Amino acid sequence: MKYYNLKDSLEKVDFREATIKGQGKEKGLFFPENIPQFDDEFIQNLHQYSNEEIAYQCMKDFVGDEIPSEILKEIVAETVSFEIPLVKISEQISILELFHGPTLAFKDIGARFMSRCLSYFLKDQQKKVTVLVATSGDTGGAVAHGFYKTPQINVVILYPKNRVSPVQEKQLTALGENISALEVNGSFDDCQNLVKQAFSDEEINSRLFLTSANSINVARWLPQQIYYLIALKQWIQHYKEQPVICVPSGNFGNICAGLLTHFRGLPASHFIAACNANHVVPDYFKTENYQPQKAVPTLSNAMDVGNPSNFVRILELFGHQFEVLKNKISAYSIDDHKTMNTITEVYGKYGHILEPHSAVAFAAMEEYLQENPDQKGFILGTAHPVKFPDAVEKAIHTQIRIPGSLNELMKKQKKTVEINSDFEELRRFLLDKI
Ligand SMILES: *Cc1c(COP(=O)(O)O)cnc(C)c1O
Repeated sequence: MKYYNLKDSLEKVDFREATIKGQGKEKGLFFPENIPQFDDEFIQNLHQYSNEEIAYQCMKDFVGDEIPSEILKEIVAETVSFEIPLVKISEQISILELFHGPTLAFKDIGARFMSRCLSYFLKDQQKKVTVLVATSGDTGGAVAHGFYKTPQINVVILYPKNRVSPVQEKQLTALGENISALEVNGSFDDCQNLVKQAFSDEEINSRLFLTSANSINVARWLPQQIYYLIALKQWIQHYKEQPVICVPSGNFGNICAGLLTHFRGLPASHFIAACNANHVVPDYFKTENYQPQKAVPTLSNAMDVGNPSNFVRILELFGHQFEVLKNKISAYSIDDHKTMNTITEVYGKYGHILEPHSAVAFAAMEEYLQENPDQKGFILGTAHPVKFPDAVEKAIHTQIRIPGSLNELMKKQKKTVEINSDFEELRRFLLDKI
């Protein structure tokens, strides 16, 4: 399989190069040259396959012979080595719980796959790679954990001081080893700006090989297809109709992976992009005019994105045909007020605790089902409620308990380096300490 650069289709790379480089010339995203189709037999008999086999079947064409099949089988088995249950909330709405991985975030899946591929590709090289990420709280933990103790890879995470929840902070700061956490006196935007400056700093780039670990990288984006198949495997055991699939969306990597799976043959009657108050995409669906905005802060902060980077991949997938796109996807914007009310209502009615991102998805799904009452579907549960305790506890007036699996983590010491929102301080750290 080759991947071409969406900004310059003459630039073509294989999976290995796409994984190491992250993006192409002019910061263009890589896109697969063809869309491999699933066998009907495979889709109809998903319930007979283990999650590991599903993951392998899903990924093998994208990796090609860049990784030997025996090793790829090990990588995918580690990628999906935790439960991914489809849980019924109401008659019409279920939730695919993607938060039973090591950091209780759906990003665990992409991060685990990417780190293992990258580490395989670096093995026969002298190269050391530094993964540099800014996080508003949720992404960083998954990346840190995914790359923890991976040879030849250092991870540097910037997060805004006092603005992440206690569980998130421990996940970022307690690992040590090859993971460094920088606590920035500033906002998430400040963290992101510092990272951007580092990526364009000549001296840093001449001394370190920097890479990012966001969904721009195909090795993080593509494995997200796996759990749509794992969801369907469970779905077809309970329902005859095709599901509506609703995805809480920020950078649109997750939903784009779902759409890709659909183009390969996964049945789904409709997709919903659930956004918070950052409504660039819902606006686009209304006006056919794509107008990036400055992100506004919300309770579902992992989706506070004003210019979703993967949206170009969705356009490419649909051959830039607006009408076709509009028939397959609906987009909704749900504000914080509605998000809080949804958490309260769902808890009251069904006894189910949602966190803000999943609540945005639940509310969007309800809006769609009001217009399409004979349909059913599932939302993607992208994080565990314990990672967003302030909003959740306020909405349900009950304290949420930290799961036992986190006890060890919560006892660990936080290790961070505090820096100001000043590029010189980040530069020093990268040049002196890494
Ligand atoms: C990253 C994230 C999202 C958004 O996913 P995208 O692929 O960026 O659209 C949604 N929910 C949570 C909890 C996240 O961490």
